[in-house]
Amino acid sequence: MKMIRRILIATRGEIAVRIIRACQELGIETIQVYSEADRNSLPVELASCSICIGPARAAESYLKASALISAALTKKADAIHPGYGFLAENAEFAELCRQHNLCFIGPQPDVIRLMGDKITARKLAGKLGIPLVPGSKDPVSDVGEALAIAREIGYPVLLKAAAGGGGRGMRVASNDGEIKRAFENAQAEAVVAFGDGSLYVEKYLGEVRHVEIQVLGDGNEVVHFGERDCSIQRRHQKLIEESPSPAITGDIRALMADAAVRLARHVGYQSAGTVEFIFDEKTNQFYFIEMNTRIQVEHPVTEMVTGVDLVKEQIRIATGESLRIRQEDIKFKGHAIECRINADDPENNFIPQPGFITRYIVPGGPGIRVDTHAYQGYTVPRYYDSMIAKVIAWGRCREESLARMRRALDEFKISGLTTNIDFHRSLLKHQRFIDGNYHTQFVEKQLPRFQKEVARKVDNILFAKKSRQDTLPAR
Ligand code: ADP
Repeated sequence: MKMIRRILIATRGEIAVRIIRACQELGIETIQVYSEADRNSLPVELASCSICIGPARAAESYLKASALISAALTKKADAIHPGYGFLAENAEFAELCRQHNLCFIGPQPDVIRLMGDKITARKLAGKLGIPLVPGSKDPVSDVGEALAIAREIGYPVLLKAAAGGGGRGMRVASNDGEIKRAFENAQAEAVVAFGDGSLYVEKYLGEVRHVEIQVLGDGNEVVHFGERDCSIQRRHQKLIEESPSPAITGDIRALMADAAVRLARHVGYQSAGTVEFIFDEKTNQFYFIEMNTRIQVEHPVTEMVTGVDLVKEQIRIATGESLRIRQEDIKFKGHAIECRINADDPENNFIPQPGFITRYIVPGGPGIRVDTHAYQGYTVPRYYDSMIAKVIAWGRCREESLARMRRALDEFKISGLTTNIDFHRSLLKHQRFIDGNYHTQFVEKQLPRFQKEVARKVDNILFAKKSRQDTLPAR
């Protein structure tokens, strides 16, 4: 058993705040690293102590393993929590931590490596009898090979980067004519983003849902925490997540969870992780797509329906503790939904909107949780991800959590920069969303409608008027 008294937090933003909170409750000291652009950030304010690790550019700070390790050694940390993004799924970094006698809060480096390569992960899942999307067994080395596989499985196909993440290095091709360009674009993007241009081919299943299973393993035992439906996406990036999924039945849930647990158990998984599937409602069939070996952005949705603090459990497991929760003790209560609030402009192709926040009024009240690192007077730097907050709503049923989310989005007031709050508001009142009848293409297909609504800001004006009225209308 390893004693963890002091954790270095090798990430930034809301997840850094989230980890600090977990550490404080566990009586663990925190060291927050920061780049020159994050000197005045909330995690720096909240941590027990902080240390500058380099200039604003992530490549010279949050992605610089040597800077993080020396910060940890200088400050005498016992462990490093990587959060998500940056080096969270970098096996070499996890190994480097071990070499310096620092506990990496995540799974074993070999498991990160295995799952980080989506082709080897696919192979393993296939070997365990978990359904896979039809596609290539091995990387495709050139366009000719991709073409042969596409003809065999049938168009449309999706070219995917083996090292992929965040929806990058992925291109759809609908016919022979499109495959060359798709191959070149996917490969070029993968080289820039991951330094690895290996691609594989999958059948592109158009209108599907993204459903994922949260797991927690201690190296021996694995438990699951049900699913999250993350089908509300734009450019393969999640915008809204909810649990339980409005689309799957108890039978499918059980089969999916069983597949996720079997995969995690097979590799002796030790940490929090997520096994991702796509689900085809037309055939009632699900397919494995990948496993993420880290805590995910959307983990609060699961925390709200199960009452389990996943980050605290993740830290406990890293000390060598066994799981304290048995599968039969995990109870699911009500419904939760999360909206990712980004500083970007939905009317202008979602261009990031960094800048100074002049007003920041955060929602609250029954069933609402807000995870954010922003505050009034904070400047959102232009160097990183544009997500500034997550609003999570819980209700006894989906209807109640949606009503609470709408109320929370109305309460959330941010001035000084443009956000996607109005976009979320129009999404949440769309009848198809209300009915739970949506898929991963839904946002892209309805985009012009949402953008038009955002432009009109109908609700905003109504809300502003209503809230400023001195008298209520006669009844
Ligand atoms: P990343 O690791 O970049 O997030 P994923 O493999 O998790 O990539 O896929 C991201 C999203 O792309 C999924 O949530 C889904 O919307 C879509 N997707 C992935 N594979 C397929 C497929 N074979 N058919 C249809 N959509 C897919």
